[in-house]
Amino acid sequence: MKQLIAGAAMVLLFLSCTNDSSETVEYQTIYRIPVVVHVVHNGESVGSGANISSAQIKSQIDVLNEDFRKMTGTNGFNQNSDGADTLIEFFLATEGPNGETLTEPGIDRIDGGRAEWPKGFLRNPIETTLKPFTIWDPEKYFNIWTVNFGGFASRDLLGYAQFPNMSGLSGLNVDNGSTDTDGIVIGYKYFGSSQKGNFPNLIAPFDLGRTTTHEVGHWLGLRHIWGDGDCQYDDYCLDTPLAAEPSYGCPTNKMTCEELEMVENYMDYTDDGCMNIFTNDQTERMHTVLETSPRRKELVVFGQEPIY
Ligand SMILES: [Zn+2]
Repeated sequence: MKQLIAGAAMVLLFLSCTNDSSETVEYQTIYRIPVVVHVVHNGESVGSGANISSAQIKSQIDVLNEDFRKMTGTNGFNQNSDGADTLIEFFLATEGPNGETLTEPGIDRIDGGRAEWPKGFLRNPIETTLKPFTIWDPEKYFNIWTVNFGGFASRDLLGYAQFPNMSGLSGLNVDNGSTDTDGIVIGYKYFGSSQKGNFPNLIAPFDLGRTTTHEVGHWLGLRHIWGDGDCQYDDYCLDTPLAAEPSYGCPTNKMTCEELEMVENYMDYTDDGCMNIFTNDQTERMHTVLETSPRRKELVVFGQEPIY
């Protein structure tokens, strides 16, 4: 038995040497997404109040890439056996809608002429006015708006997203919204990471950029991990345990539906510092969206990366 094992090890060693010396390198497909951040302010100078600095914006894009690529040595890394590198990346667009070079890549500063932006059934200027008048072609840009939420029923809102259309995925409607409102909206106090600069606007425990990671998950077709209901409701991913409710803070060993909850999943409601997982099944849903949904599939720039 010992000899057999030793023999097997030698064969493995020989094979790996052969691979190292050969010219064949395998590649994997990377999904790269160009981003424009519409910074909606009320006349403040750049870097003040809702008119957030380019450094704060860049810190958020860095967090997205760390989280979606499960990058080693960052908050986005995990060792969960179901944890995935989604192979999705984000970059600030270099050109504006007319092909012009942007002085601040991927940033569009807008004086919205109001201090607070309500999001509610009765008054919703974000959906009816702000987005349609400011959106850049959603077949070329992933549109993100940062605003100061406020007013009717909106003070506690961190962010929200428009789901993809016609993805064919379980748990999603065919039509989730029109072309001129496509994208996500994030409160400027939750956009960016306080670990990557001095950004006093950001409010703990939602100051590490995970509100945006969560909303991008929705934009790419992910449902909440508790399925927005009790144990009978699922998020249509087999490798995320059932959960009966959202979780807050960072609970340990929380059981509902007779399973250990995955409170580290980005699609829960836990604190930013608690989250670090997208699963393989969630990744599959997001890839389906990027390959089939109108606007998403035109938007994505495919790249190749060697597998080491
Ligand atoms: Zn959500």
